[in-house]
Amino acid sequence: MPVSAPSGPRSRATRALALASVLLLTAACSSPSGAPPGSDPTAALPLPGPEDGADAPDGDDRGAPGDGGGNGGPVGDGPLGDRVVVIDPGHNGGNADAPDEINAMVPAGPNEKACDTVGTETASGYAEHEFNWELSVLVKERLEADGATVVLTREDDGGVGPCINERAEIGNEEGADAAVSLHADGGPESGRGFHVIMPGEVEGFTDDITEPSRLLGEDIHRAYLEGSDVPTADYLADDGLDVRTDLGGLNMSDVPKVFLETGNMRNPEDAALMEDPAWREQAADAIARGLAFYLMRG
Ligand SMILES: [Zn+2]
Repeated sequence: MPVSAPSGPRSRATRALALASVLLLTAACSSPSGAPPGSDPTAALPLPGPEDGADAPDGDDRGAPGDGGGNGGPVGDGPLGDRVVVIDPGHNGGNADAPDEINAMVPAGPNEKACDTVGTETASGYAEHEFNWELSVLVKERLEADGATVVLTREDDGGVGPCINERAEIGNEEGADAAVSLHADGGPESGRGFHVIMPGEVEGFTDDITEPSRLLGEDIHRAYLEGSDVPTADYLADDGLDVRTDLGGLNMSDVPKVFLETGNMRNPEDAALMEDPAWREQAADAIARGLAFYLMRG
């Protein structure tokens, strides 16, 4: 079990400090992706945080789509105040009991695919849909603490769907600056590690998003590799980076979007991390940092 992560919730000051290091890296990075990884300055100045004085509620606060803030939350304050992020927690807790709905065919680009799938689970039965949900809420809290408007594609972990095309459509309707689908893989037990999936060229579908999505994918990859303690996948992809043209959630997106397969739930080492609440906080820090880096590219 990892012992390096703090056991309690991270303070706002800590989160702001994390973003401050992103800002300094961004400022120092006049040539894109030219900054060496792991060069966080130690003299980073804290950024002003949200001034609502109250911690965000736990997980039941879907972002307010399209209201532009001013709805009681911290949205709009902070360095990410004009940015909109859609976080898509993969699968859903009710999918297994709704085969007719989730097996229905929906547009997925040039072809159709099933509306959704059930997802995987660890050997001890921790379900991927639950992990995806818990992690997504943590990432949302962090980005909102820096002022971003964050929309989740589902309201809780007890429903069905939405279908993959609808998940993409939410990002489109929001005009999101970035969208990320959070998943955990169900690979071979002997293989571990994470990988980022970026959209490949699908004429008429992804032409407009492949380049910004590549940058988004590289930023999340770098931050997650530095911050999560999970290595890049050793059983697929290429140093943790993959490009696919068969995923409806990417093909149907009109905004920069990637999938993050945060680890392999069937691998004991990865599963032990995923089942650790303190690690999930650590992983959320890394994902939020990667998203913030991308958003600050301007
Ligand atoms: Zn999944």
